[in-house]
Amino acid sequence: MTMQALSCEKCGVGVLVEKFSPAHTSIQWESDTSECPLISRSGSAPGDHGRECSALRGSIDRAVAQRVLTESHIELPVGQKLPRLH
Ligand SMILES: [Zn+2]
Repeated sequence: MTMQALSCEKCGVGVLVEKFSPAHTSIQWESDTSECPLISRSGSAPGDHGRECSALRGSIDRAVAQRVLTESHIELPVGQKLPRLH
């Protein structure tokens, strides 16, 4: 599991992305989110988790589609490998 560097194709802000599943993406901003015009225009408060750049979201989806960004799979113990309590 590693963060992969990606930049927004619209505003060029660099982020680190880790994709766990189609529904779970972890985004770590390398710079202030106010540098992204789309986010600063939305006017949401600093620290708001709802903040994101739709163009960046598109960039991530495209990177996944082109296999530039690979999903990291969390290995969960199954069957016989399940830890037992005794
Ligand atoms: Zn952006």
